[in-house]
Amino acid sequence: MSLLDSKETDNGLADDFMSSTQTLRKTIPLMIKHKVPTTPVNYALWYSYTTNQMPLLNQALDQSLAQYGHCPPSLSDSLYRTHLLQQPDSEQGQISHSLQAIMDELCHTMAGSKNETQTFHHSLSKTYQRLSQKAAQGVNVHEANGLVQELLDESRNMHQSSALLNQQLESAHQEIENLKKALKDSLKHANEDPLTGLLNRRAFQQDLNSCIQHRTPFSLVLLDIDNFKTFNDDFGHLMGDKVLCSVARHLQAWCEWGMQTYRYGGEEFVVILPGATLQQSWQKAEKLRQVISGIAVQDKQSGKTVSSITVSMGVAEQTGKENGLAVLARADKYLLQAKNLGRNRVLPLI
Ligand code: GH3
Ligand code: MG
Ligand code: MG
Repeated sequence: MSLLDSKETDNGLADDFMSSTQTLRKTIPLMIKHKVPTTPVNYALWYSYTTNQMPLLNQALDQSLAQYGHCPPSLSDSLYRTHLLQQPDSEQGQISHSLQAIMDELCHTMAGSKNETQTFHHSLSKTYQRLSQKAAQGVNVHEANGLVQELLDESRNMHQSSALLNQQLESAHQEIENLKKALKDSLKHANEDPLTGLLNRRAFQQDLNSCIQHRTPFSLVLLDIDNFKTFNDDFGHLMGDKVLCSVARHLQAWCEWGMQTYRYGGEEFVVILPGATLQQSWQKAEKLRQVISGIAVQDKQSGKTVSSITVSMGVAEQTGKENGLAVLARADKYLLQAKNLGRNRVLPLI
């Protein structure tokens, strides 16, 4: 690399640094404005938002701000996974990319130095031959030979340390790749229910708290599959699992943008509906009740079909300064009433 090249690279780095700093200067006030918790995931998300390089990410965050007035933690995690961790050209991917570039460059240099070393070997051998030929002329070949041998040893050492360096870099690269994957998996597993793929109760608690903190108006729908135990008892546990997954899929399909479904536990699910009134939520829940009552789940091996799937639901809208637990307790109270009144219904009646 010439002196000019290295100067250009330095300027390039300086430019990158300047623009990163400028982006960060815009990112931080934006995070403060939207009360975004300062976690590494959020820094990465909102930094990318400021650069405006991923229109889909910006669109999703804008939609979330419009509906929630903030970005629920589970959505932040999922946007991070979808837009930053999975895109090779993203900010995150760039860490690995930069490392890859450094490695490529080093490998190139290594290959170059290997060639240079071989050339070096070659010329040394030639020198050795010439020196041997000159032996007849009385030159102290023994001394010269020792010197050449020393040089040969040194070049061999150079070769070996290059290989070792290369190996170390490769394992460092592998380690970063593993860490990246572990981070991605841990984010996913922490919030995801492994059976249905829905968000879990932990994610629900986080998102619910976040709605309360940001004073986002919302309603909750708490849903429980009716007489679910009989599916397990009559058709086996695996069939019970299939019913759970089918209900989860229908719930996901029914959810409009912004609404979020979670597996609360066992055969219970909960939905957050940002900005929805009790009446709006009841109407949506009633439609869902009708959809679910039409589900049929077939066990391919035995040919048996479960078609009597119904759900009971309790709906509650957050009012005043109520905390999340109080809203959930009210939805639960209505759910219990729905069960007591004969199941397959949505309460309170509107
Ligand atoms: P109700 O209409 O009053 O809600 O009756 P239910 O039978 O649905 O409710 P109950 O609480 O009596 O039984 C729920 C059952 O759900 C008990 C439990 O074994 C089963 N269950 C919980 N989690 C899972 C799961 O992941 N897979 C399967 N197959 N069954 C589960
Ligand atoms: Mg239950
Ligand atoms: Mg039940």
